Amino acid sequence: MINGIGVSPGISIGRALVFKRMQGKISSQLLNNEGEIFNEIKHFDHAVQLALEEIENLKSNSTIVLNNEEYAILETQTELINDPQIREDVIEKIRAEKINANDALLRVLDVIVQLFENMDDEYMRARSSDMKDIARRILKHLNQAENEDYTFEPDTIIIAEDLSPSDTITMDTTYVTGFATQTGSKTSHTAIIAKSKGIPALVNCGKQIHEIKDNDVIILDGTKGLLHVNPHENVLREYRVMITDYKKQTTELNLLKDKPAITTDGTRIVFSGNISSSSELENMFSYGAEGVGLLRTEMLFMDRDNFPDEDEQFEFYKTIALNARGKTVVVRTIDIGGDKHLPYFNLPAELNPFLGYRAIRICLDRKDLFITQLKAILRAAAFGDLKIMFPMISNLTEIREAKKILEEAKLRLIQQNINFNADIKVGIMIEIPSAAITADILAEEVSFFSIGTNDLCQYTLAVDRMNEKISHLYDPFNPGVLRLISNVIEQGRKYNVHVAMCGEMASDPLATQLLMGMGLEEFSMSAASIPAVKKIILYGSMEKAREICKHVMQMNSSVQIISYLEQTL
Ligand code: PEP
Ligand code: MG
Repeated sequence: MINGIGVSPGISIGRALVFKRMQGKISSQLLNNEGEIFNEIKHFDHAVQLALEEIENLKSNSTIVLNNEEYAILETQTELINDPQIREDVIEKIRAEKINANDALLRVLDVIVQLFENMDDEYMRARSSDMKDIARRILKHLNQAENEDYTFEPDTIIIAEDLSPSDTITMDTTYVTGFATQTGSKTSHTAIIAKSKGIPALVNCGKQIHEIKDNDVIILDGTKGLLHVNPHENVLREYRVMITDYKKQTTELNLLKDKPAITTDGTRIVFSGNISSSSELENMFSYGAEGVGLLRTEMLFMDRDNFPDEDEQFEFYKTIALNARGKTVVVRTIDIGGDKHLPYFNLPAELNPFLGYRAIRICLDRKDLFITQLKAILRAAAFGDLKIMFPMISNLTEIREAKKILEEAKLRLIQQNINFNADIKVGIMIEIPSAAITADILAEEVSFFSIGTNDLCQYTLAVDRMNEKISHLYDPFNPGVLRLISNVIEQGRKYNVHVAMCGEMASDPLATQLLMGMGLEEFSMSAASIPAVKKIILYGSMEKAREICKHVMQMNSSVQIISYLEQTL
């Protein structure tokens, strides 16, 4: 079994087709005179022209129906090919180094691809495959090579090192039922195209993928991120049953995604998404999310060598604000520490990192870092409906201090004459028991609460959420945890503070009716989980949910609670 990152959910069973692609080779031929240089430049321009025509033909070819994502990829490629800088660099190399167009393009490309691959932004890194793809097109025309032709049998699963946009776009998906690649990320083309075509896919499977041979039997599980090679008949049988169930379920759930979530007795519930970057927005909306309930900002700070400055942060939040279709985006200020470390921010080793120097505690201590992030969010909030949320709040003083720094950030922007949204709404995560118990006290300082059950559960039960040895004790249905959640929702309603939940419990269908019954107004989760939870809301009533909640709150153990909730589903 091979592990990868599942980027497009679903299961496929089929035969492997190991995909090999033409690699550009340096010819090391030197040019002798001005005439040859002139001809090489002409040759390059002609190849570029043919590559552009090829893309245009793909766009207008009536036998290939392009969806929006595919069309956008081809548009980007046209722009990249037309970039005058590439032509200038290639011509300069041909002239200066007296090398042919093939070698000059390969060298120029090498630099550009490296540049993309070293970028911090995952989305930009994935764009290096656009560059490789256009280069391959031009090289093919320079060398008058033929297209590699593959014939696809029904139920083909493509196994490749990486797949370029044109590979995936031109693949006949009536026969190709899955992709698995050695490299790639969630925002790689394989991921984007596979998702948009609804084909299960895995990326980042590692070098083990090279052991797969043509015609090997493959089970590709895009939901769990697994690849079974020549599996045992029992495993095949199990997966065949899962495929039938999965197909039934997804058809049913897809029908629900555009429906507003209203219970049979008329209560409207809001569904929003948990995301970490703008590239996740479209997928989030496609599952029916109505906004962003939790933007984890840590990703912007990770995988780099220094803190992003105010402008860089501003661009990150602004892109999200502009692409959020006018919907609300709750931006959580940085939540580092605990299990999340930054390579360039030397956090001291601690005996209890989850109870230590983390999140808002760092921000209140390092006002310089905090104010930079707050200024960037305030500026971006002029471009969309952004809200600010502070994590790990344990008492009233912390909220007041954080808000004081927010006011200082506003003042600095006024002094600098920079546009921003002064009316930005402020909320907090409720993820520490003291905050949950004193929700009535904290309510006076904020306009919304978002319950972070991942941390609330670990702190209430004193169970480290990362420790597998005690994971059986990590139990959101423990009556102690439920009483805290119920109190937060009750106090929120009493003091007119909107209450959402963005911890994993929000996506657990077993908890849905109970949370509805407590009066939870908004469920925020990873997009793919929305349809299953929404279905319960659409077919359920508030009356029944309240009744379920009343029963559960009288029960004395999670075993009893879980078994009762299972019966009610
Ligand atoms: C939580 O604690 O429930 C939460 C949503 O935050 P994180 O998982 O990022 O700690
Ligand atoms: Mg948390």
